[in-house]
Amino acid sequence: MIKLEKQYITSCENKARLNFDFSIDGKKSNIWYEVENKYSQYLCTERCDAFVIGVLPYALTKNHDIVSEIPMTEELCYKLNTTLIPLLSKNDEHIFDIKISVPTTAEVLQNAGAVGTGVSGGADSFHAILNTYDSKYKGLQLTHLCLFNVGSFKGNKRFQKDIYERCIERAEIIAQEFKLPLIISNSNLADVFSRNHACTHDYSSAFGICCLQKLWKSYYYASSCTDVNIFTLKNSSKNDSDVYAPLIHYCFNNYNLNIISEGMHKNKMEKLESIADSPVVQKYLHVCTAKSDNCSKCPKCKRTMLALDAIGKLDNFSDVFDIEYYNKNRFKYYWLLFKNHYHKVITTEDVYQKIKSKMTKSEFVRLKFLVALRYFIFDVTHSERKVYKHIKFFGINFKYKKR
Ligand SMILES: [Zn+2]
Repeated sequence: MIKLEKQYITSCENKARLNFDFSIDGKKSNIWYEVENKYSQYLCTERCDAFVIGVLPYALTKNHDIVSEIPMTEELCYKLNTTLIPLLSKNDEHIFDIKISVPTTAEVLQNAGAVGTGVSGGADSFHAILNTYDSKYKGLQLTHLCLFNVGSFKGNKRFQKDIYERCIERAEIIAQEFKLPLIISNSNLADVFSRNHACTHDYSSAFGICCLQKLWKSYYYASSCTDVNIFTLKNSSKNDSDVYAPLIHYCFNNYNLNIISEGMHKNKMEKLESIADSPVVQKYLHVCTAKSDNCSKCPKCKRTMLALDAIGKLDNFSDVFDIEYYNKNRFKYYWLLFKNHYHKVITTEDVYQKIKSKMTKSEFVRLKFLVALRYFIFDVTHSERKVYKHIKFFGINFKYKKR
């Protein structure tokens, strides 16, 4: 059982910290969320919404009920107990049908009417910013940008300090470009509950949003998956939580808070297509999870460069990617597309199809031949040969529809 004992604010120098004292089967612990002092008035001690959402992935997989005497927003508690938890446990044997037992309140919590979104520097984040900062829907116009440190900077269980600090620098510049205030927050949530951030990021971010519940009227959470068509609840504990984000946000939303899945109607290439002409994006796009600036070589950099190439915009991104390296090693990049297509990986299939559609059939077959040739002669290591030995290249096993 997870028991939230106490929720209170402390301050140190220019930072205000929202603390949650709790215990797991009697063992005491503490998680905190920290912002600049000027935002302390918006930290929410009246409800335990943030805590419940933050610990939920752990509670679900470790079979812990959650209890507290601190009230929770009634609609949120209802939706978690009657919809999200039963649905997740029914579709994943690693998730338990736990119960949240807390007092609830239907009283509306006053907020400052702010509208926020994250500013990670990635394509999804830029899509959310560009589509909302000057929105024709005035009540939904962006008022604040945020950078939450709730787990995304923890690669291989190690906090990536250099990447985090560079992201702060970049976020400050982007916020200045859009003339919006930037809220930088920090938390130990990911240290206390060590977990795969990809599988839990919707929960961790909602924890950050709900800690400042008295600030937000609405919050755009940038959708990061291919698009909403891939929705599934199967094995949700092992999947990117974005594959069922519409359900998560439906359950988290209530009369106090509106979390909007921004961009869920588009895949990554469509998003890049709609933001690629922005000078700010061309200057500050950062997708790399390996380095503080784009390395141009990791899978995420490769996927983004290929998508930009497919839509004919890669040359505009010479400030943030090594275009020269890409052009010299084009076949290495194309290899990723061909490999993913063969293995039915959907994240790059649209890019594969786009590149294919821009070529004649004979050009495409020639490209495939050259990609395979280059890899088999120059680049494939012995182990990779073993893994892919069953793949028949040179056009035999690649199925493509007749146009
Ligand atoms: Zn990279």
